[in-house]
Amino acid sequence: MAAVTLTNVVKRFGTFEVVHGANIDITDGEFVVFVGPSGCGKSTLLRMIAGLEDISGGDIAIGGKVMNDVEPADRGIAMVFQSYALYPHMTVEQNLSFGLRMNGNPKADTERRVRKAAEILRIDELMQRRPKQLSGGQRQRVAIGRAIVREPQVFLFDEPLSNLDAELRVQMRVEISRLHKELGVTMIYVTHDQTEAMTLADRIVVLKAGNVEQIGAPLDLYDDPANRFVAGFIGSPK
Ligand code: ADP
Ligand code: MG
Repeated sequence: MAAVTLTNVVKRFGTFEVVHGANIDITDGEFVVFVGPSGCGKSTLLRMIAGLEDISGGDIAIGGKVMNDVEPADRGIAMVFQSYALYPHMTVEQNLSFGLRMNGNPKADTERRVRKAAEILRIDELMQRRPKQLSGGQRQRVAIGRAIVREPQVFLFDEPLSNLDAELRVQMRVEISRLHKELGVTMIYVTHDQTEAMTLADRIVVLKAGNVEQIGAPLDLYDDPANRFVAGFIGSPK
């Protein structure tokens, strides 16, 4: 588990500034949702936390350690994307174990982690299938499984459910909540979907055009929005 702290984080692409000094304090084990319209900088923030994108100013700390110059693999994080990016020619089991095998993780430990992830996600029965033999929900479970086997301190999710149909989205939301309770790790979850934010979050970070508009518990934002934008965004029906 680990706290994640963003201090005056700035991001520029060339001369174009897309994040304007973000201050966000995420406590150990918290489930925080970044919400805001398309293009407001949600993915960029997440990618900076993951180390997939350099930061132009400020600091990002994970577990009290400044990570600005630390490689993604050494940050204790795992990221789940919207596109599952599973290896099509590999079985589920191979998809789950691939990263660990590449890193030279001991075989017995890899097997233990893969078994545990399969159990947590209830995909034990699917281990010998290939991605094309899986439903969308099952594929997303495998993608989450690949994050779990890394035993990260922090999970990052970038709109992981937006390719799924409405019914499956609800189901996976429940799964992700259960996962958070079971693993007890810090989770940062990006979405533009207000319902997802309201149901999943301990706290919501509302973003608008690269600025943090408000941070608070879902009901606090709902009852006491800082401005009209937050009110419109949290209050308006999906
Ligand atoms: P969101 O995830 O909230 O939809 P993004 O973080 O993807 O938003 O993008 C924020 C802003 O940064 C957008 O204006 C986007 O066009 C811009 N942007 C994102 N990535 C790049 C990039 N690699 N080069 C230039 N501009 C980028
Ligand atoms: Mg995005």
